[in-house]
Amino acid sequence: MIAAVKTPPPHVLPWDRCDARRLGGVRGILTDIDDTLTTEGDIPMGVVAALAALREAGVPVIAVTGRPMGWSRPIAEQVPLAAVVAENGAVALFVEDGALRIEYAQVDDVRRVNGARLAAVAARILREVPGATLARDSAGRVTDIAIDHAEFVHLPTPAIEQVVALMTSEGMNATVSSIHINGWYGDHSKLTGADWIVRRRLGRDLEAEHAAWIYVGDSTNDQSMFEHFPLSVGVANLLDFAEQLTSWPAYLTRHDRGRGFIEVAERLLAARG
Ligand SMILES: [Mg+2]
Repeated sequence: MIAAVKTPPPHVLPWDRCDARRLGGVRGILTDIDDTLTTEGDIPMGVVAALAALREAGVPVIAVTGRPMGWSRPIAEQVPLAAVVAENGAVALFVEDGALRIEYAQVDDVRRVNGARLAAVAARILREVPGATLARDSAGRVTDIAIDHAEFVHLPTPAIEQVVALMTSEGMNATVSSIHINGWYGDHSKLTGADWIVRRRLGRDLEAEHAAWIYVGDSTNDQSMFEHFPLSVGVANLLDFAEQLTSWPAYLTRHDRGRGFIEVAERLLAARG
């Protein structure tokens, strides 16, 4: 059988068609990590070099991810990024004056109370939902809980629904990603996290200048950011989700994953001269 060639809708333009004058005014880049900066789980040297070149050119790059604080820590320490916003907007990690700083969107008291509630709900899920297990990256999570449904175990749909219902009944927000069921307290999001850290790190108002920021992503969970930023770019592997996407980015790179991000960086740097 010949696989159908996946094509984006006609309003999604190739990245190399983005107007160079528009790129000349870009103030910064927000980017997803998994399968956008990474290829098979690692950030390739070429991507690190592209990030260093962007830093050198005065273009801040902030990574925004649903991954845990603990998972994000070595990335914040070793990769030339202005910051990593983790746990869907709840935590930020960045190097300041040579030292790693970890800051939270919620004040300490709220976070302490929520931490105890998270642990109690997690224990209740493991007790009441047959087959439910915590995601393997749970040790690094501080503001949410994650139940594995497709990463290392397979949880049947009724059990997934039971977990979501239990989280909701405990007053949590809950979402189901391609691998985990996440539950958390608070109304933060990738966008509120980006907003907060642009103010904190750069002293600037992301909302006021959002048309001059690029957002790069690869998946269905990047759609709200694609919608928000007019200069949104999908790396080519976004086409793997063509059938599930309802919101597309404005542009698509020719290459996938890390190579796609390098394409974004190179064109931006060329346009800025
Ligand atoms: Mg991703």
